[in-house]
Amino acid sequence: MKLINTHAHLDLLNDPAAALDRAQKAGVGQVVTVGIDLDSSRRAADFSRELPGVFCTVGLHPHEAAKASPKLWGELKRLALTASAVAVGECGLDFYRDLSPRHLQREAFAAQIGLALDLGLPLVVHDRDAHAEVLNTLAKSGAERVGGVVHCFSGDASLAAEVVSLGFSLGITGVITYKKSDELRSLVKTVPLTKLLIETDCPYLSPEPYRGKPNEPAYVSYTHQALAKALGITPEEVASVTTDNARRLFSLPHMED
Ligand SMILES: [Zn+2]
Repeated sequence: MKLINTHAHLDLLNDPAAALDRAQKAGVGQVVTVGIDLDSSRRAADFSRELPGVFCTVGLHPHEAAKASPKLWGELKRLALTASAVAVGECGLDFYRDLSPRHLQREAFAAQIGLALDLGLPLVVHDRDAHAEVLNTLAKSGAERVGGVVHCFSGDASLAAEVVSLGFSLGITGVITYKKSDELRSLVKTVPLTKLLIETDCPYLSPEPYRGKPNEPAYVSYTHQALAKALGITPEEVASVTTDNARRLFSLPHMED
């Protein structure tokens, strides 16, 4: 069963087409490339048209929240429709780096939840040191209706349970391969298998043994292996379940095996 890498930033790679080739050879059949502002959302849309097996999202990352304007939301919406985006995001709150003022992060997050509800698309959520507020915002705004993924999940088991009870999934990155990630390796066992997705967040967060080097879509296979080991089930089973999960959440077409 081929893998689906549910979170990549192809526009930030040196040679996206070559990286995608290596991903296909490593058994990664589909890649969701994620927009972080209008420009990168447009590039994600282009990749989804030009490269087989690539699907795009459109969104405004919390770091970029100061770029928000009514015009930008209109353009993102149009882009989502014309490019058949599979999700809205990445959006959310980042109170760790605080690169945009928090009130603007909140406005941009709310606007994108509204857009996702309007378009009937799931959300790709970024949450860094803002766990309680991200969950409250999702719960209060009825985001459960469209669901989505809390990408690069970094909370504890009780937060994982809340994310799942809201109908959202957890995105597992190469962080699960790191020595210090015992908590993550044990909490994945408490999450229903149907709520786990695998992703790279490339070019960031390279898994072991590539930690410190640029990440690329193919390396989701290391996350896949580490997740299987943490769960104590076979890699084949993890591939089949996470691929089904991604397909269901993002309404992706079936792949030939
Ligand atoms: Zn990302």
